[in-house]
Amino acid sequence: MRKKPRIGIMGGTFDPIHYGHLVTAEEALVQFNLDRVVFMPTGNPVRKTHERVSDPEHRYNMTVLATASNPDFEVSRLEVDRPGPTYTVATLEAMHARLGLQAELFFITGADAVFDILTWKDPERLAELTTFIAATRPGYDLEGARAAYTERGLAARVEFVEVPALAISSTDIRRRVIERRPVRYLLPENVAAYIEKHSLYREDS
Ligand code: NAP
Repeated sequence: MRKKPRIGIMGGTFDPIHYGHLVTAEEALVQFNLDRVVFMPTGNPVRKTHERVSDPEHRYNMTVLATASNPDFEVSRLEVDRPGPTYTVATLEAMHARLGLQAELFFITGADAVFDILTWKDPERLAELTTFIAATRPGYDLEGARAAYTERGLAARVEFVEVPALAISSTDIRRRVIERRPVRYLLPENVAAYIEKHSLYREDS
């Protein structure tokens, strides 16, 4: 019998994508025996209306550059091309429609984001559509989070991966670019070159 495809959907703003994200995706691929990971840069992130977020095309291009050499990674334009706010439930419905209901979906993202899922659009439907893989940074209170998920009845739908490389953060990289401090070894060189070429994150850009 053919096995059900197991597909990871790596959701994030990726402003910019960095090695912490790439290590997370690789870790999830191996730990959860996924067939591939589809990176899904957000279009218009719902929670970021007061923050400056780079143009979706730049975030998409950087994600393509960062993942190009890995045959198990691909990048989707689904959210980038969809007008209006980015709701994960709509993305997962679209992915199920595209892949067939036989596919099993694993939505991978930061543990802090996953912690809020009860406030996301249609959490009950989300829990039917996917298992969440929550990536934790060093120092994250894993036991506390597990207890909170159990209390909210979500424990069965959330798995954790501990990713030491998530000590790297997009916020820190943007700050470093503004302060003209080095970003080498925090993200792929071609992404660093893209940031430089397009003057991303400069105060005056
Ligand atoms: P965020 O608030 O920017 O990120 C929260 C934390 O998670 C940050 O520390 C971030 O680190 C980390 N993170 C984000 N994506 C990650 C990834 N793929 N792997 C590992 N760590 C990650 O979160 P966001 O980017 O806006 O949202 C994350 C995902 O949740 C997106 O796909 C978004 O569409 C979805 N979401 C959906 C709803 C909804 O449907 N209503 C609401 C909120 C979020 P870095 O800054 O270093 O990435």
